[in-house]
Parts: sequence; structure tokens; C-alpha cells
Amino acid sequence: MPIQNVLVVGGGITGSVLSLALAQRNVTVDLVEISPRWFGVGHGITLQGNALKALRSVGVLDRVLARAVPFDRMRLLAADGEAMTELSTPHTGGEDLPATAGALRSDLQNALCDAVRAHGVEVRLGLSVERFEQTADHVDVTFTDGSTGRYDLLVAADGIHSSMRAMIGITTVPRPVGMSIFRVVAERPAEMDCAEVYYGGPRYKAGYSPISPDRCYAYLLDENLDASLIGPRAPLALLRERGAGYGGTWGKIIGSLPDDTAVDYRWIESVLVDGPWHRGRATVIGDAAHACPPLIAQGAAMCAEDAVLLAELVTGEGPVEEALDAFMARRLPRVRMVLENSLRLAEWEINPGTPGADPARIMSETLHSLTAAA
Ligand SMILES: Cc1cc2nc3c(=O)[nH]c(=O)nc-3n(C[C@H](O)[C@H](O)[C@H](O)COP(=O)(O)OP(=O)(O)OC[C@H]3O[C@@H](n4cnc5c(N)ncnc54)[C@H](O)[C@@H]3O)c2cc1C
Repeated sequence: MPIQNVLVVGGGITGSVLSLALAQRNVTVDLVEISPRWFGVGHGITLQGNALKALRSVGVLDRVLARAVPFDRMRLLAADGEAMTELSTPHTGGEDLPATAGALRSDLQNALCDAVRAHGVEVRLGLSVERFEQTADHVDVTFTDGSTGRYDLLVAADGIHSSMRAMIGITTVPRPVGMSIFRVVAERPAEMDCAEVYYGGPRYKAGYSPISPDRCYAYLLDENLDASLIGPRAPLALLRERGAGYGGTWGKIIGSLPDDTAVDYRWIESVLVDGPWHRGRATVIGDAAHACPPLIAQGAAMCAEDAVLLAELVTGEGPVEEALDAFMARRLPRVRMVLENSLRLAEWEINPGTPGADPARIMSETLHSLTAAA
């Protein structure tokens, strides 16, 4: 019998897109989000065409693009800001969509939250799964507030540090990649018309993207610094110190940030569940199953593609477990390719001068191969 109700755990990009895609196929969806408030943090995100295609398929693209900034190229610069070359970005979502759009994460998440609620999904905040048991036909869930529910399918979309992963019986854990990132949202200088990346400076790299008519997102990729710095309020002075040596527009942006700017600092991690993503009727998807360092800006695209395909396959006529097997068989080669290429780029950043290193080629080859349907 086709599935009728699904529990989605986690209301990030994956869980939100999945909830929408299922609700649009007349499945009853409960979404539980551990955070008591449901919103996107204010950082920027680069959405490639294949992410935009997934957002279009669940009906939120127009709202996202109303504030996002589309662009179809990336400029590579020297550390002093001198332009070296310009790369055109493949249209991974098809020629009728922008190659890339820079967006504020909060704009994206707000569009998703509003659409999820408008589609009648039961959203419960400040809640998680305490435990679950399953039979061949259903999953019985006890939530952290003591309430219970019976579902045809449980989907854990609770991110790279998923606690559901272990609860489902998957032992894979994330590992640090060996690089960290400082991120800020800043005023967008008038001259910024696409993403720019600075190579050859004192750190792994620096860069920025436009994310709204008046805002941009700037970052610095660095070695792993003291773990006590990790969080949304790293010292701006430290970002300035670590970024000294980068000029051009990047230097101007960082130099003119107000003192109270929220600087997010974190170590970059990756994970790949390289075996079945499900046990019976409980599965992980999105970052909980695979998360790559953000060097090709494909993480959210992989998540949104997962969500759209999973909804399509589990609402077919066959048994749920067969659909989950088919889902992973379709997704694993694609997410593995993105992950391995992102890790290779990270390795080249960490070990400059690696023979044969050619980041522009790997980025271009990866994006070109993603133009094939998910
Ligand atoms: C520094 C950085 C930059 C990035 N830049 C880009 C980019 O430019 N482009 C791009 O495409 N991708 C980018 N990514 C990747 C992208 O952000 C992720 O792939 C994507 O956001 C993951 O979405 P998700 O919904 O799977 O997980 P998450 O966004 O982690 O969402 C998980 C949700 O589950 C909730 N949750 C957690 N535990 C529980 C629980 N036990 N019960 C209930 N709810 C729970 C969380 O509160 C959260 O809301 C970047 C990643 C990083 C780290």
C-alpha cells in the first residue's frame, strides 16, 4: 500500500523540501524540529542551478529568486585583488535557470518555512525523537515530550551531527577536513557582480558572493584554529588578523565591518554513510547521510535533490524498503562524486603545490557532470 504518513526529523533545507514534496503528493507529514524557533541563520548560501531546480519543483523558487542574486560566472583573483581569470558556471539545473544564485540563508529558510506551513504540514518545534520501534508495516515513535505517533516512514534530516543516524543503527560519524571558515554578512559593494575567490594569499583562500541587492557574504578559509573559537561570535579582530594580506574588494569589505558584526567560525567536517542509508522504514538523508566541504557549493543542492527524489520514489506503488534501496542506489554515486571532488579541492588548498592540482578543472568537471539529471 502506498505510504500515507511520514515523520520528518529536522527542518533545515532537506527536511523542509522533503516535507513540501511529500505534502504535494498528498502524504500527511509531521515535521519535528529540535530548535524552539524555526528560522535560517543569517549567513549567505550559493545555490547552484540544480538546487534551484529542486526548489522550483516544490514551488518556492520564485520567492527565493525575488531576493537572491543570480550570476553565471566566478572570478579568480590574486591575493591583492588583481583579476586572474573568469570562469563561466555550468547550468546544472538546465538552461532555463540561472547557473547560480547567491541568497541569504534566512530568506531561503523563511520561504521554505512559509510554504511548509501553507501545505498543512504539522510542524512541532522544540521537539525530537526519544526512541522508536518498527515492524514490517510501521514505525512507532516516542517524542521527547512523551507524546507518540505511528508512521509509515521516518526520515531523519537532522544534519551532519545527526543523532538520529546512530538511533537508526548507522555508526558513521563526521570527521574534520583540516580547514576552518570565518563567515560574515556585509554590505555589498557596488562593483560586486558575481562570486570572487582570492587564491595565493596567506590562508587557504578568501572570497565573497552577492546574496541580496544590498548584502554580500564574505569568508576566509583557514587552518583549524583553537576549537574554543567555534561559534557565531568569533572575534572580528581575529578575522582581520588572519585575513591580513588579502586586498581588493575583500580587504575593503572586512576592513569596513562594524565592530558588532557577527563572525561565524567553524571547523569544516565531512561525512559519507557509504552503506545503506536506511534500516527498515527509517532512513537518513541530506547532510545526515552525506556532507561535503563547501568548496564546490553543492551541499544544499545535494540535500534538495535527495528530498525531491525520495518523495517521488516512496510515493510509488512498490514496497517502501525497495523504494529506499532504489533511492540510495540513485543518490550514492552522485553524492560520492561531489564529496570526493570537494575533499580533493580541500586537500589541494591544505597542501599547496601538490603536483597536478587544478582546482578550476575539478570544479568545472564536477558541475558539468551534475548537469545530468539527478
Ligand atoms: C561553512 C559552510 C558553507 C556552506 N555553503 C554552502 C553553499 O554555499 N552552497 C550549498 O549548496 N551548500 C553549502 N553548504 C552546505 C549546506 O549548508 C548543507 O548541505 C545543508 O544546509 C544541509 O541541510 P540539512 O537540512 O541536511 O541539514 P541542517 O541544515 O543541518 O538542518 C538540520 C536541521 O535539523 C535540526 N535537528 C538537528 N537535530 C535534531 C533532532 N535530533 N531532532 C529534530 N531536529 C533536529 C536542526 O536544528 C536543523 O534545523 C555549506 C556548509 C557549510 C558548513
